[in-house]
Amino acid sequence: MEVDELYQDIILDHYKNPRHAAKISDSSAMIDEENPTCGDHIKLNARLEGGRIAGIEVDCTGCAICTASASIMSEMMMGKSAADAVAFGRRFTGFLRGEGAMSDEELGDLVALRGVSQYPLRVKCATMGWHALEAAIRKLS
Ligand code: ZN
Repeated sequence: MEVDELYQDIILDHYKNPRHAAKISDSSAMIDEENPTCGDHIKLNARLEGGRIAGIEVDCTGCAICTASASIMSEMMMGKSAADAVAFGRRFTGFLRGEGAMSDEELGDLVALRGVSQYPLRVKCATMGWHALEAAIRKLS
């Protein structure tokens, strides 16, 4: 894969300095997801306050795409309502699978992952953090 096509600066920044990266301190809503085809492993916990995301912890050992997507996700979804976070995650994961359109403005740093949609085997890498967040929100709701 041509990393240049994937806005490597944004991806590498999030890969090297993943936001909200932590060992899971409270496993009450912990989700554990693995992607055996790539070797990615994400543990994620979220905390809601008044229906909004007040905390996200991501313990990810994975490839750059997996780590960067989960990092951008944690940064963008903090403070959002649980419903908005689930809706956005579904739109973004659908977008990577070729369903629907999203503007650069909506994508924010996720624009760096737009090219992943060309590589079906990597789509799972970029979506698993989002699936984990939705699953954690369901546990909490
Ligand atoms: Zn991966």
